[in-house]
Amino acid sequence: MTKPRDFDALKAMVETGEIDTVLVCFVDMQGRLMGKRFHGVNFIKYSFEETHCCNYLLATDIEMSTPDGYVSTSWQSGYGDYVMKPDLSTIRPVPWLEATALVLCDVLDHHTKEAVSHSPRAVLKKQISSLGELGFEAKMATELEFFLFEESFDYIRKSGFKDLKPISGYNEDYHIFQTTKEEGVMRPIRNHLFEAGLPIENTKGEAEAGQEELNIRYSSALDCADHHSIAKHAIKEIAWQNGHAATFLPKWDKDRVGSSSHIHQSIWKNGTSAFYEKSAKHGMSKVMKYYMAGLIKYAPDYTYFLAPNINSYKRFSKGTFAPTKTVWSIDNRTAGFRLCGEGTEGVRAECRIGGSDLNPYLAQAVMLAAGIKGIQEKMDLSPATTGDVYNDTKATNIPQTLRAATEKLRNSSFLREALGEDVVDHYVRAAEWEQEEFDRVVTDWEIERGFERA
Ligand code: ADP
Repeated sequence: MTKPRDFDALKAMVETGEIDTVLVCFVDMQGRLMGKRFHGVNFIKYSFEETHCCNYLLATDIEMSTPDGYVSTSWQSGYGDYVMKPDLSTIRPVPWLEATALVLCDVLDHHTKEAVSHSPRAVLKKQISSLGELGFEAKMATELEFFLFEESFDYIRKSGFKDLKPISGYNEDYHIFQTTKEEGVMRPIRNHLFEAGLPIENTKGEAEAGQEELNIRYSSALDCADHHSIAKHAIKEIAWQNGHAATFLPKWDKDRVGSSSHIHQSIWKNGTSAFYEKSAKHGMSKVMKYYMAGLIKYAPDYTYFLAPNINSYKRFSKGTFAPTKTVWSIDNRTAGFRLCGEGTEGVRAECRIGGSDLNPYLAQAVMLAAGIKGIQEKMDLSPATTGDVYNDTKATNIPQTLRAATEKLRNSSFLREALGEDVVDHYVRAAEWEQEEFDRVVTDWEIERGFERA
């Protein structure tokens, strides 16, 4: 299939019948694609301008329930509509589905046509524009880690999520033989996404049985978040097409390592990296030092956006490569932040705290906000740490529970100023609801532990 990458190309392909379906999507709070499947002809004639969706979609939890307590929408206000405004620059083919293309939308208020401030794409665009006001542009890359399973989503769900069997029998970190066995799923993931216009670098086995990683070449922050969302969706869909399940739950087994989403970031000016200074130590410019100092200082405030679910916090255990300390280090994987590309033009900050369930728009936005603050205030960067950071008792911890992260977010004057009061209140409510839902549940662990012996 040739590639509809812009509106004219899409129109031509709809007219010849090569494309008959257009997925018109926005990204929800959980980072999922939500939207409608349009007939191609309707899309190119009418719906390319706008379509609509119920506004509960940006105030729901992962189960699609409708918690109370959101200011933006509620049963009292009758759950009105949002405008979904296709961003035609995001048109791309969906090569793993027949005759299908996709476009991502910005979410706008139905009446004012202003961006809905808590919609993830708008949250990120606001920070990109603040950075632009300082004369900089951000380049980002997110790594996607996930697990593949022998059985399908439907089989696993119908079996009560019991006896989960990862697709491989052993740790497959960098393993070529084991990953050859998985090429039935992983090759179409790489190739279809590449054909969809994502700059795919590679996939590799990760450090657990059945664990995979997809790497996408860095790009502008908005493109990076778009790529992440489309890739995550594609991974699930292509795994499903092949009779397998893929999970981005950060921790699905207490005895195995979890899945993360490391975020690489650098700041550029006029086409060159403003993070690089040849003669400076490690090649780190002043801008990079300020930016990293901001990242580190505010990590506890924004941890919620790197770990938004109850399960996210199960990943943060000692000796698992999931860092919990707000320190930086050079090429040391136990620190929350790692300097990569030392002494080269590719020098960059990697945040290793986030789990595979993060929403890339929100995660990138809050880190940009922290970096911007660091640059504006010319913050001092503490020296790099060395050795096993897990045992560094002086280093600050990020919040270790969703409850603690929620309180940090609620009380963060920095995030209230950077994102807006309404946006922070919205996500505090999302965090509270996730906790409330968990608190109502009696877990298998409690029953097994206490049923007889309590
Ligand atoms: P590693 O071998 O540690 O995984 P890679 O060279 O594969 O490191 O890079 C990891 C990610 O960092 C890739 O997605 C890459 O595109 C991205 N990256 C490289 N240079 C930069 C940069 N200057 N800014 C942001 N991301 C970058």
